[in-house]
Amino acid sequence: MSRPFNFAPGPATLPQEVLEQAAAEMLDWRGTGMSVMEMSHRGAAFTEIAETALRDLRELLQVPAHMRVLLMQGGAIAENAIVPLNLSRGTVADYVVTGAWSKKSHAEARKYCEARLAASTEDSGFTTLPVADQWRLSHQASYVHLCSNETVHGVQWPALPDVRALGGAAPLAVDCSSDIGSRAIDWSQVGVAYAGAQKNLGPSGVTVVIVREDLLGHALPSCPSAFDYKIVADNDSMYNTPPTYAIYIMGLVLQWMKRQSYKGLHGLAAIEQRNQDKAHLLYEVIDASDLYINRVQAHCRSLMNVPFFLSRDELNPVFLAEAQARDLLQLKGHKSVGGMRASLYNAMPLEGVQSLVSFMKDFATRHG
Ligand SMILES: *Cc1c(COP(=O)(O)O)cnc(C)c1O
Repeated sequence: MSRPFNFAPGPATLPQEVLEQAAAEMLDWRGTGMSVMEMSHRGAAFTEIAETALRDLRELLQVPAHMRVLLMQGGAIAENAIVPLNLSRGTVADYVVTGAWSKKSHAEARKYCEARLAASTEDSGFTTLPVADQWRLSHQASYVHLCSNETVHGVQWPALPDVRALGGAAPLAVDCSSDIGSRAIDWSQVGVAYAGAQKNLGPSGVTVVIVREDLLGHALPSCPSAFDYKIVADNDSMYNTPPTYAIYIMGLVLQWMKRQSYKGLHGLAAIEQRNQDKAHLLYEVIDASDLYINRVQAHCRSLMNVPFFLSRDELNPVFLAEAQARDLLQLKGHKSVGGMRASLYNAMPLEGVQSLVSFMKDFATRHG
């Protein structure tokens, strides 16, 4: 069965192998006589599913031993509150604003602490990253928040910034919802990293939180118990009933990730290289044509979300209709920026991007 290519920003395309395995196991998970959805979250079968998923996530992302991996609910938007509730101690936190998502994180944090703007690229229309002399880090900050990949504006940190070199001392709090699992992470300065699963890791409903053990246990008294990292950690992410089916699908995605190979590379290294190749193909076509525009500076263009505009606005509906007719789905840009956006998460095959760029070249020839 051949399915269309789905470029949605999230919830996003999932590997076909994963969907097929989930379908095959739907009524009876490995002889238990139950669907995963029907199992007790404390029973032996689900415990094995959850423990395997956590082990695979740790292995793939090389999470250091002094960090805990928590499975929570509420998505990254809830974490925008949960992070200051757990880490700020009601004092100062620094926010780096590089697009719509980090701007939202900063606004939410103000309810819980003195959330300062340490740097912003809003003046550029979110087309770049702050340079060293634009940073204003607070020496008393409890953490420095940033978004590693801005899903709406298509701006990605090529690597996490070295906060110490910029005069800071606090650990990073990173919203990596739209690039977790797309490349290796340097954990050395990270205090907490969080991500909703529905971009790169699975379906919506489960939120991955990777937090340094020494930061647990300092939540504000008003923090809901279900959102207190220490309580969640002490209960192995089962303080409240976890989103069991979403965790199961995420586990299948992680196993699929471990099986990947590409150009002689395996696992996350293969995925990372393939993501670079996919994004390169698309940016090359955008830059080669006067019809397509992407204004993000080359060094911080996102490998995951590629927003682009047509130089002639009246062609937008034609582009989308023709793309759809060629089985290229969900390319419409975010409502706040308009134009188009192609999301190229791990599960988007190289063939999907090849099909998109061949359509775009053809479209440019006919309409350019
Ligand atoms: C999608 C996304 C969010 C929102 O996630 P929810 O699961 O809806 O809370 C936040 N931040 C980034 C970077 C995202 O890509």
